Amino acid sequence: MAYVDSLLSKCTSFSQLKQLQAHLITTGIFQFYTSRSKFLDFCAISPFGNLLYAAHIFRHITSPCKNEYNAIIRGLAQSHKPIDAITFYISMARDSCMPDALTCSFTLKACARALARIETPQIHAQVIRFGFSADVLLRTTLLDAYSKCGDLRDACKVFDEMCVRDIASWNALIAGLAQGNRPTEALLLFKKMREENVNMEPNEVTVLGALSACSQLGANKEGGRVHDYIKSKNLDGNVIVCNAVIDMYGKCGILGRAYEVFNEMKCLRTRVTWNTMIMALAMYGDGEQALELFERMGRAGIEADSVSYLAAICACNHAGMVEEGMKLFDAMDRYGVSKNVKHYGSMVDLLGRAGRLDEAYKIVQSMPTVPDAVLWQTLLGASKTYGNVEMAEIASKKLVEMGSDHCGDFVLLSNLYAAQGRWHDVRRVREAMKGQDVKKVPGFSYIEVGGTIYKFMNGDKNNPKWEEIYWKLDEVLLRIREYGYVAETNYVFHDIGTEEKENALCYHSEKLAVSFGLISTPDGTCISVNKNLRICGDCHVVIKLISKIYKREIIVRDRTRFHRFKDGTCSCKEYW
Ligand code: ZN
Ligand code: ZN
Repeated sequence: MAYVDSLLSKCTSFSQLKQLQAHLITTGIFQFYTSRSKFLDFCAISPFGNLLYAAHIFRHITSPCKNEYNAIIRGLAQSHKPIDAITFYISMARDSCMPDALTCSFTLKACARALARIETPQIHAQVIRFGFSADVLLRTTLLDAYSKCGDLRDACKVFDEMCVRDIASWNALIAGLAQGNRPTEALLLFKKMREENVNMEPNEVTVLGALSACSQLGANKEGGRVHDYIKSKNLDGNVIVCNAVIDMYGKCGILGRAYEVFNEMKCLRTRVTWNTMIMALAMYGDGEQALELFERMGRAGIEADSVSYLAAICACNHAGMVEEGMKLFDAMDRYGVSKNVKHYGSMVDLLGRAGRLDEAYKIVQSMPTVPDAVLWQTLLGASKTYGNVEMAEIASKKLVEMGSDHCGDFVLLSNLYAAQGRWHDVRRVREAMKGQDVKKVPGFSYIEVGGTIYKFMNGDKNNPKWEEIYWKLDEVLLRIREYGYVAETNYVFHDIGTEEKENALCYHSEKLAVSFGLISTPDGTCISVNKNLRICGDCHVVIKLISKIYKREIIVRDRTRFHRFKDGTCSCKEYW
């Protein structure tokens, strides 16, 4: 049916497609299911087609063939309602039409997009039943569906069962693990791939997955090894790979290396390259260099987009450069660059930290969209710092209206009331908390020692050396008391005893990780820790003192930025 193919390939609008259909009907060609299914496929997929129309034609076919089903399932899988593809697949079975490997592949793609956790294993069972399990491509799709749905255990199982693993399977799993918050496993798999498969080399896609895992973990040594590999295979001619390397070094806090890669790139820098480098500087709190680079980018003829502006505003935020931030924020309107909630959030944070709460509130009010919870939390945090009860009440009221179930919001407000002696209000907030199922996001930290990544939760005793770690931490706390340290217990609830409060703080994951670093790395070497949440005030004070007493440089990357502790001070200059 090359004739139909050639006609379809010339089609450039929906009305032409309908003319073509009329032509096929009058010439009788439309009776042949081969041409009909080609037409349906085009109609369901092509930008000149129309999925609804394809489905309409489908409904008028008395006994549709497999390819016709496939056309509609494929179209639905790519539509904004991929779940419909699964429903359609079920109706196909009901009409006792046997699916083929393609049908399963399209349906699994729909499962991946619809995050259909329950349906994926069901389709998997059918794949086995119909005898398609040897199909490598189909298995890769299956793997992808499992890993997108977050069902990584099953994804790993599929992977292990596969007798022929091609590069796309490897890549799918590494990327799936890296995106599924399981970077440690992703890296292990990357290592395994390099060790096991002499004849199969990681390609650009593989290294991107591995780099993303390293960035999440802050695993700079492992990241360095991936970079060496990239250089040895000349994969650094690819700009996307280079950007990912810059991002990785940036997120691992090795700014020098990030800059090196940026300066020595063999390929042309794209806007993403510039944005990544500016963001790396911003996270590091190097506001001036970040802004300098932002200007250099303009001089290099690359127009700043909303990501560039966000990076530059973040840089101002982390360096406390209020006026510069305001200028950038205003410039966005002038140059017609669209703002999103992150730009507003960063400005509110910047103004809030500087104590300019009224201006921050004005920015919130000027937003064209509904402010999100993070924004109100930012304002609430700033109100707490500056003891502004009125603003805190406005923000927490909004948070309650939005159905916030985040423990920190309530703690902040309750502590603010407590600081003012408004015990009645403290009680009210506490009651409200009990009424709602308030969740606490668990804090955890990573540290890389001797090529292995260790994870610590608050109060964690899973590490085989936990006794030694706690013993060291107790010694640390004892020694820093000599320097006048008092635990900043207002970071926890007010109504638990002082001693309990101190204990709750003492064993925060970042303290455990640093303590582990102290006992397992040589004196004088740098300790680098990576935390999922924002570092708390108490840990900040303690780590500053550790850096002084133990003469160690300590780098902590938290959710928003880097802290480089050295000789009793922090690079953030208390701005975080
Ligand atoms: Zn802490
Ligand atoms: Zn700091």
